[in-house]
Amino acid sequence: VPINLAYFCQQLLAELQISDERGHDFSFTCQGKQDSFFNFDEQWLRYILSNLLSNALKYSPPGTTVKLRLSIDTDQAIFQIIDRGIGILPQDQLNLFEPFYRGQNAHKISGSGLGLAIVKNYVNLLKGQISFTSEIGVGTTFTLILPLNA
Ligand code: ATP
Ligand code: MG
Repeated sequence: VPINLAYFCQQLLAELQISDERGHDFSFTCQGKQDSFFNFDEQWLRYILSNLLSNALKYSPPGTTVKLRLSIDTDQAIFQIIDRGIGILPQDQLNLFEPFYRGQNAHKISGSGLGLAIVKNYVNLLKGQISFTSEIGVGTTFTLILPLNA
């Protein structure tokens, strides 16, 4: 089903903001072909983005801003999920997409360690790429690149 990515992202953020009991600020920006529709599996896209955004919310203190940036190029969409949270230790970064892997920094916060492993699988199925940069005490940015088949 063709979907408008900018609209889809805004709806998803609005839903997450309503259920965010810890009171974060939310920010969304979009560059590029905002009016175009693209064929995406809505369930997969929703799973990927809501997991990355839930992690950003879960691993950052109340009152901080969680940002979603979308950039739509001719042949790919670039999503960035940016938090000002606890960050990920360098020694955890290599294993982050492994099933059941949880970072040392996250031990006080409950979770199964499965979210990112499933995200990675869906990203592969969509022939996309996912990467991140992170600094302890500063925050984390996940970058998701998905090809657009016009
Ligand atoms: P769940 O299966 O409930 O999502 P989880 O959040 O622990 O549990 P993943 O989403 O797979 O599992 O994340 C794996 C680990 O990556 C987390 O335990 C945490 O250590 C780290 N992590 C993921 N996203 C972030 C983030 N935005 N900031 C800091 N650490 C993160
Ligand atoms: Mg998670």
